[in-house]
Amino acid sequence: MAKKCEGIAVGIDLGTTYSCVAVWQEQYGRPEIIHNDQGNRTTPSCVAFTKEQRLIGDAAKNQAASNTQNTVFDAKRLIGRKFSDQVVQDDIMLWPFKVTAGVNDKPMITVTYKGREKKLCAEEVSSMVLTKMREIAEAYVESPVKNAVVTVPAYFRDSQRKATVDAGAIAGLNVIRVMNEPTAAAIAYGLDKRADCVGERNIFVFDLGGGTFDVSLLTIKDNVFRVKATAGNTHLGGEDFDNRIVNYCVQEFKRKNKVDIGGNPRALRRLRTACERAKRSLSFLVVSTIEIDSLFEGIDFSSLINRAKFEEVNMDLFEECMKIVESCLTDANLEKSKVDDIVLVGGCSRIPKVQQLLQEFFNGKELCKSINPDEAVAYGAAVQAALLSDDIKNVPMLVLQDVTPLSLGRSLKGDIMSVVIPRNTCIPVKKTKKYVTVKDNQTSSLIEVYEGERTRASDNNLLGSFLLSGHTPAPRGHPLDVCFAIDENGILTVSVTERSTGKMNEITITNYKERLSAEEIKNLIKEAENYHIEDKKFLRKAKAVYALDDYIYKMKNALKKKDVNIKLTLEEIEKIKSAIAVATGLLSDNNQQVEADVLEDHLKWLESRMEPIITKTI
Ligand code: ADP
Ligand code: MG
Repeated sequence: MAKKCEGIAVGIDLGTTYSCVAVWQEQYGRPEIIHNDQGNRTTPSCVAFTKEQRLIGDAAKNQAASNTQNTVFDAKRLIGRKFSDQVVQDDIMLWPFKVTAGVNDKPMITVTYKGREKKLCAEEVSSMVLTKMREIAEAYVESPVKNAVVTVPAYFRDSQRKATVDAGAIAGLNVIRVMNEPTAAAIAYGLDKRADCVGERNIFVFDLGGGTFDVSLLTIKDNVFRVKATAGNTHLGGEDFDNRIVNYCVQEFKRKNKVDIGGNPRALRRLRTACERAKRSLSFLVVSTIEIDSLFEGIDFSSLINRAKFEEVNMDLFEECMKIVESCLTDANLEKSKVDDIVLVGGCSRIPKVQQLLQEFFNGKELCKSINPDEAVAYGAAVQAALLSDDIKNVPMLVLQDVTPLSLGRSLKGDIMSVVIPRNTCIPVKKTKKYVTVKDNQTSSLIEVYEGERTRASDNNLLGSFLLSGHTPAPRGHPLDVCFAIDENGILTVSVTERSTGKMNEITITNYKERLSAEEIKNLIKEAENYHIEDKKFLRKAKAVYALDDYIYKMKNALKKKDVNIKLTLEEIEKIKSAIAVATGLLSDNNQQVEADVLEDHLKWLESRMEPIITKTI
């Protein structure tokens, strides 16, 4: 396979609720999951804006309760979609942050940052999460990271894949491949390398994440991965399980204290965080405690929840998951006994009841559990990244091939969808179809490109349109060749050639409404740099404040020494006292605007003057 890039390439699972990054480790011959600055191996896909700064990941999630309107999550649900899309409309009802329609019906998230209103598109928010993942990787490999394989759900459309590439570009990453999440998971489990892998192997990927549930049936044959069928529910996952425990606790609080916390967003947010923690621990403990001090009106909350109760309040949701599993197999027309491997992906696939139901459904077949399910996707992406990177030599060679998730075609007279590339075709692929002009002396042809399975073109999703003009005047039936080409990332280019003259017109479907233009991406990259500079500035100031504060503490301590009056002269004691007063003044609320370098300079000056005096007290 042609190598795609020089230097390090990482694999990033850009999840709806949590993201994860991994890098190939030559010395171990496998990828390594990289932990973030908090020591966690997954990072919340969450960005927050405050009066002072921008926060990404754990820091953003941790302050969500007190800053609900400016804490943005779930950007993946918006990416590559239009504002008027029903899915977007439904999601908006559930979010605490504001989303409005921007130019070309693009959904825009509104936040208040440093006291000013700011509008962000989904690509921008995702790019911030990607930037964080890049920085996590850079800290680990101790060098810049420029290339990444980013994963997306198998059902992601062309526009959603391209928007993901754009998000990477804004984050300063060259997205060398957009990869299907189930394919990445199957690779992580090494299913392509199984010794008994002769002929075709059917792999069922069960991905129960934070907000979405996706199942896919893949086949591997001679290292070619084919997604045969996908099914899922875009609103079923860990957050729903958390909500069920939250409701249970709200009822319990009401029963015990006769007050309802239902209308208090801050209390609910704190409760939700504690419930998520309880849910996680119930995967390996049979009972868990939920304890929150002063949850509401000064009343503490403490409750025990056991695994049986957790299962009881969520049973209908777990059963819903199993129905979806069944429908996926029905779609693929495959008996469950023909499934060779069942792969667990997503944090919530750790829930013992879920595993039990799934295993029972497959008549007791063992589930693939050897890899941490919330890391499997990033792990597989890192294998793919290594394969595409010039610098890494010892990666077992494998050729990955994905398929198109939706049929692609053009509209014909009468709003008919004429399919050029049917769904489930292996990519990359190039197909040419012959069309003819429909009128005598027709001088131009409008090519409208659609994706979808409906017979009426307008019921499908319009990807873009262009006009080929200047046809040679001729009677109707004049031939035109329309060529659809999809690259390894699932990205489409359409070209039309007039046979008689060889005149050609081509578009990579980039200029359609949802996609950012090159100019917009450039501006957003600039903006991202500004954010970066501001973040750095904020961090430098915070460090300077801390260092000065620390020095004030040191000076105060020197004065507290019991024999200070003997060791220091009265004049020296006064000097310290006035230095403390000046420094404290600099850090006071009235002096919020003081720049970091002023504080740093003052500290240097203080140290040079005070250190000789303070040393005497030791
Ligand atoms: P995404 O949908 O973003 O891909 P993940 O696959 O990372 O999400 O899954 C995140 C979800 O998994 C969260 O709801 C989290 O609470 C849940 N989760 C993580 N660890 C566990 C665990 N040990 N038991 C149950 N749920 C877990
Ligand atoms: Mg996921």
